[in-house]
Amino acid sequence: MIIERKSPLYDGKSKTIFETNQSELVIQYFKDDATAFNAQKKGTIVNKGLLNNLTSSQIFEFLAKNQIPSHFVKKLSEREMLVKKLTIIPVEIVVRNRAAGSICKRLGLEKGKAFSHPIVETFFKNDSLGDPLISEEHIFHFGWATPAELKEMKASALKVNHILKPVFESIGLELIDFKLEFGKTKDGFVLLADEITLDGCRLWDKATGESMDKDRFRHDLGRVDEAYQEVTHRLTQFFSRSL
Ligand code: ADP
Ligand code: UDP
Repeated sequence: MIIERKSPLYDGKSKTIFETNQSELVIQYFKDDATAFNAQKKGTIVNKGLLNNLTSSQIFEFLAKNQIPSHFVKKLSEREMLVKKLTIIPVEIVVRNRAAGSICKRLGLEKGKAFSHPIVETFFKNDSLGDPLISEEHIFHFGWATPAELKEMKASALKVNHILKPVFESIGLELIDFKLEFGKTKDGFVLLADEITLDGCRLWDKATGESMDKDRFRHDLGRVDEAYQEVTHRLTQFFSRSL
């Protein structure tokens, strides 16, 4: 089947979604654009699009082998990923192994505090409201997901954590937290969607404690491009041995 890229369906902050000649498939095009703090900070990270496409493609393939299906169909080119077209559920699922970022501010926690078991939080995916933290009551009341769908999303997110923590561990990184998105197929199946990249994860170097993720961009820590390259390189080596 030859896939032809058609018109853009949605132009996001770091990716553009294109229609294709197959109505049920879309292309995610990964850009170098980076934003932080609800898009108040904007910039570019050299080759981020290419590196994120590679990272995400490899992770989705690895998850599929570990019984976590996603929208991923195949990597089409350096910056293009073919995925199943979904209706995105407007609930971001965040899994946290240690305290960092917004939970520290919200709950007055010390950065780096380890949790006895992973904590799952839900946020409303809405840029104009700054993606607020929401409860199950909100999700069910406003019909963003049903109880069964939310249960599936949370269970899947915890499985992803369980599978990816040791992967990062084996390449010298600790998975601190990450954000996932899910969507629904026309038939109503819930699938893991979007991307799993350094843009949506916190990874700390086990040897130095240094951030090796988008926090380098958020907080002007320097060597941003290098961190994306280094983590992608380590992951690619890991997956070349195990995929
Ligand atoms: P944002 O919307 O926050 O600016 P991106 O720049 O990453 O984010 O844009 C990509 C958009 O595509 C996101 O809103 C994401 O929810 C959506 N998306 C991800 N996977 C799919 C999919 N399989 N089908 C349709 N939309 C998707
Ligand atoms: N995250 C994300 N997109 C968002 C919000 C958060 O990818 O819109 C990721 C973020 O990179 C981190 C995790 O989710 O790995 C938890 O983020 P947090 O709630 O701490 O928010 P932040 O500190 O990024 O504002």
